[in-house]
Amino acid sequence: MSRDQYSFTDPTKLYADIDPQKQEMAEPGLDAELTPKADLGEDTYRGSGRLTGRKALITGGDSGIGAATAIAFAREGADVALSYLPEEEEDAQRVVGILREAGATVVAFPGDLKDPQYCRELVAQTVEGLGGLDILVNNGGKQIYNEDLTTLTDEQFDDTFKTNVYAMFWITKAALPHLPAGSAIINTTSIQAYSPSGILVDYASTKATINAFTKGLAEQLAPRGIRVNAVAPGPIWTPLQPTGGQPQSKLDEFGTQTPLGRMGQPAELAPAYVFLASAESSYVVGETLNVNGGMPTP
Ligand code: NAD
Ligand code: MG
Repeated sequence: MSRDQYSFTDPTKLYADIDPQKQEMAEPGLDAELTPKADLGEDTYRGSGRLTGRKALITGGDSGIGAATAIAFAREGADVALSYLPEEEEDAQRVVGILREAGATVVAFPGDLKDPQYCRELVAQTVEGLGGLDILVNNGGKQIYNEDLTTLTDEQFDDTFKTNVYAMFWITKAALPHLPAGSAIINTTSIQAYSPSGILVDYASTKATINAFTKGLAEQLAPRGIRVNAVAPGPIWTPLQPTGGQPQSKLDEFGTQTPLGRMGQPAELAPAYVFLASAESSYVVGETLNVNGGMPTP
């Protein structure tokens, strides 16, 4: 079966032959080591000039949803800056190569999103390297499951909020003076924001925060011509899951609870980000685009 976004395909069958597997990986994990491999759209995504001349910053752009989004953005004509952790250089360099092949100017700037100074330098490096900024995708994230609140360490609670919430605040605040009217900010939230799992209390709380931040900021920035929206993925096959995002016992059934009966691939997320970044969504503000295999959302 053809595996792309352009063929008439039964979505229950698309990727249904890619079964998740149990595997231990240390945080933050690598797409290069994910078994089976995730589909980032590298062999399939076709651009049509929807982001020509645009300048995008994507956090967590080395792997998973962020990497698929970066590939789509570059093929739509955007230049792209990527943020990731130094341990992820291998994944990042592969993505940088794919973006350059698409003709994009690329800035790769590794560092720790928990560090406000890094977040500010990331924006400065992006603006310098790309000559501006008009798409910001706050996508980097941390998810470590925990079964009992009494064993959830203060450090993990703090790190999860720093990575998922504070970094979004620091980066967006630093980016705002550079964003012209017409710019788009897209935050990656989650089905967990409204359907929290008992084992993801800290993570789910950050995602609910991201939803409120997105809607409030959307209202604040709309009069300035800057649109803020969110994408809420369901279970997607990325390094986030086998690096402690899920217990090993749940990995091999990952995604089977969705109405489509399977997990999603990063390549299925990228078009949502392209839509929200491009002028096609000019009247879409403060929206959450759910890409989750059919799970009900508010
Ligand atoms: P991923 O592991 O490929 O991407 C997450 C990225 O976050 C990493 O690549 C890493 O570069 C970055 N990151 C984490 N901690 C960091 C830190 N301290 N400093 C710098 N960068 C850091 O996994 P993904 O699933 O593509 O995750 C992308 C986003 O999607 C996250 O916000 C995640 O919460 C969200 N999400 C994922 C799923 C899913 O099922 N995979 C579901 C809902 C939401
Ligand atoms: Mg990664």
